[in-house]
Amino acid sequence: MSVNRSLAACFEQIASLMEIKGENAFKVSANRKVARLLEDLDRDISDIAAAGKLTDLDGIGKGTAKRIEQYLQQGTIDDLEAMRAELPQGLTSLLDISGMGPKTVGRVWREAGVIDRATLKEAIDSGALAALPRMGAKTIQNIADSLDFAQRAADRTPLGKAMVLAEMLVDQLSACSGVRKLDWAGSLRRGCETIGDIDLIAVTDDPKGLVEAFTNREDVEKVLAAGETKASVRLAQGVQVDLRIVDAAVHGATLMYFTGSKEHNVKLRERARSMQMRLNEYGLFPDDGDETPPQQRGVEPVAAATEADIYAALDLPMQPPQLRESLDDPTCDPPDLIESSDILSDLHAHTVASDGHLQIDELIDAARARGLKAIAITDHSVSSVQANGLSIDRLLDQIKAVHEARDRHEDMLVLAGSEVDIRTDGTLDYPDDVLAQLDIVVASPHVALKQDATAATERLLAAIEHPLVHIIGHPTGRMIGRRPGLEPDMLALTKAAAATGTALEINANPRRLDLRDAHVRTAVAAGCLIAINTDAHVAEHLDFRRYGVLTARRGRLTSSQCVNCLDHAALQSWLADKRSLGQGH
Ligand SMILES: [Zn+2]
Ligand SMILES: [Zn+2]
Repeated sequence: MSVNRSLAACFEQIASLMEIKGENAFKVSANRKVARLLEDLDRDISDIAAAGKLTDLDGIGKGTAKRIEQYLQQGTIDDLEAMRAELPQGLTSLLDISGMGPKTVGRVWREAGVIDRATLKEAIDSGALAALPRMGAKTIQNIADSLDFAQRAADRTPLGKAMVLAEMLVDQLSACSGVRKLDWAGSLRRGCETIGDIDLIAVTDDPKGLVEAFTNREDVEKVLAAGETKASVRLAQGVQVDLRIVDAAVHGATLMYFTGSKEHNVKLRERARSMQMRLNEYGLFPDDGDETPPQQRGVEPVAAATEADIYAALDLPMQPPQLRESLDDPTCDPPDLIESSDILSDLHAHTVASDGHLQIDELIDAARARGLKAIAITDHSVSSVQANGLSIDRLLDQIKAVHEARDRHEDMLVLAGSEVDIRTDGTLDYPDDVLAQLDIVVASPHVALKQDATAATERLLAAIEHPLVHIIGHPTGRMIGRRPGLEPDMLALTKAAAATGTALEINANPRRLDLRDAHVRTAVAAGCLIAINTDAHVAEHLDFRRYGVLTARRGRLTSSQCVNCLDHAALQSWLADKRSLGQGH
């Protein structure tokens, strides 16, 4: 099916390039119609071509059929390549800017010499665009805003930001009269670390009212489209949000379709085809051989109302959204994935003693308020000067203070710990006799995060194998979109961690998510323990837990392999056993 989509994109591009060149409007729209037909087609175009039936499709003449066959044979269309060669390369990148249709792109190219985003910016700034006839100040402002946004949006939105926005939207829009269901779909629902657009799927008795409430929001910077059952807006926060309103009867099919991933959807469609059915965003239908989409002919779907119905009708286990990626096999029974409510402790958090903002008691109260039963106080070690790391004397005072606090909060297990630096050579930032006085030791890399893979592996292995270390904090030190961090041999690390009983952390801060999903998968397969900690510096950071849990689920983690799911007794015996095991190691 993906061939349909890439071929549709080719015809869409042919239409756009023709339009930029100022060619005949009828020819332009004929190509655009072919693109739409391919997009809507629910069977593989190559099957139709193989049967010699391309021209049976409405809107496909002999010329178009030849182009399609050419694409299927050689992966390119000669006419399209010729047109691309004729035009400046950066010109098509202007089409992604809202307000810059192919006609406008053609005009600014021919009349103002604009050939890409940079020259467009120049033409706006120099007034060259304003000097063109029929180019009003409002239009230009519009283009300038869109260009600015396109540059900003080149960076995808972090999970932490998108989730907060989506929750606020769902919360507020659910209050509109008639709304029965409102969910987010897409990469956000799958828990990806960065998000493109936010997709919302709604069921409501009052579609008009919901679209109005959505497009009239105060934080809407621009309404990109507003129809009866669909609307798109750009929020001032720099994110595009698409709202789709569907009938309750097809909600599951639409939610599934827009949750994706594309690869998962392809696998499900293939499964449907092998069972003489067809799957699209309107439902799972019997395959009656008719080319026209079944929903347009009033065909009753086999399943459509819920995702569970569709998986069941495909004779597949229900797959949680986090396990719908290209590596996941939809025919396999999913493991019983960890949930936020399974988490009983946070084993990495900071107080005012280093660079946190809470007193010990405030941190304990904040943890209790979020349903946690245990908290480890782990301030920075002496080398983290910029984070006000604790000298040995200050650490010994801190241990005493934490133990006093423990006695004041008998319902909570309060652990005196440290986030001790793993130095560049793999040694730790406190001597062993000091580390031995702590209830828990988190060891983390903070400096030399560009060292080569071999050195990074040795450095982290030394910390994993250290008998006094319980958890490796944010093992790679990466920051999403800002720095890649260490690239150690993860298989070697996870095997060593499994052998020594050391837990590897998923740092739940949405800017870190380190371990990342792929590493969690490796760790789970190696049988090593995982910690999900928030690394809280203020009370609200404790709520980052859910991002850690989503990442864990994408890595197939179950609660049995997560140290934060242990009750008091089990947690304390792990902490003790780890050290005795390490001693004999
Ligand atoms: Zn740290
Ligand atoms: Zn920390």
